[in-house]
Amino acid sequence: MKEKPILAIIVPCYNEEQVLPKTSGIFLGKIRELVNDGIVDGKSFVLFSDDGSTDATWEIVKELSAGNPAAKGISLSRNRGHQNALLAGMMEVKDMADVVVSIDCDGQQDINAIDGMLAKYANGCDIVYGVRKKRDTDSIFKRNTALAFYKLMKILGVEVIRNHADYRLVSSRALKALHEYREVNLFLRGLFPLLGFKTDVVHFDVRERLAGESHYPLAKMLNFALDGITSLSVKPLRMIAIVGMAMSFLSFVMIAYSVVVYLIGKVVPGWSSSVIVASLVGGIQLLSLGVIGEYVGKIYLEVKGRPRYIIAEKCGNGL
Ligand code: UDP
Ligand code: MG
Repeated sequence: MKEKPILAIIVPCYNEEQVLPKTSGIFLGKIRELVNDGIVDGKSFVLFSDDGSTDATWEIVKELSAGNPAAKGISLSRNRGHQNALLAGMMEVKDMADVVVSIDCDGQQDINAIDGMLAKYANGCDIVYGVRKKRDTDSIFKRNTALAFYKLMKILGVEVIRNHADYRLVSSRALKALHEYREVNLFLRGLFPLLGFKTDVVHFDVRERLAGESHYPLAKMLNFALDGITSLSVKPLRMIAIVGMAMSFLSFVMIAYSVVVYLIGKVVPGWSSSVIVASLVGGIQLLSLGVIGEYVGKIYLEVKGRPRYIIAEKCGNGL
């Protein structure tokens, strides 16, 4: 651990022209404050990772970098999603910075939690997770779906940090380890615990978005959760095998039963039981096929090994 590390704050931005002019000062101001307090090196900076925005976001980033040497930017060739934008930013700076902190660009996460993160880094932590204190700014629905998600992940044997989104500190050593993970189905929250290293958490308050709108409506959130599960756990496949075994056992019972009924000679009634069994088995089979298909689709994408992002433009010193 260096005494005065070079800090890079990574900020993914997608169509954030409304909020970026309000929040860019918060990130750049924090860098200035930490440099002045002698906590981080004077070469520390903010890297805005523009996720293929179609509005003026990239123009705003370029203006910022022209006016302030501590502001840098990369722009992806198209929209690749929050996780890829974040990964692109982290990989871009992994050899330039000693430590990075990723944070959303909408001002929801309290910037001052970085102080606590850096203190833990100085104590030898490689990864420090920002964990939100309360979820009271969320709707009851979002709170409960989040809770269900964490429970499900636990059942499936996946380690994720509760109430942690992607606000976290990572050392360059851990970033270099992350670099070895080549997966296309990226769920960073589940990957960091797999890296190992000494980790800790810092609690912070969440606020409302300062401007603009969330890019994560319900459908996208569910998709993201599904990606998280299928990219980190194969237990659903095993569950299919278990259900299959249970059904096979049941079918032996049914065979024995039908033979007995046949021998007794009461074979005509039984329409309801046939329909029930046929539809139950049909349903389970289709569901199982769907789950397997989900994994096959993931394998398809992984095998192709396409680049996870393409950087179209860069701005700022040293990039
Ligand atoms: N974001 C991104 N690419 C996307 C969607 C979102 O880089 O395709 C960024 C966005 O600019 C923000 C962060 O990811 O900095 C979190 O997004 P948002 O605030 O919309 O999500 P929420 O906080 O509502 O979950
Ligand atoms: Mg947000």
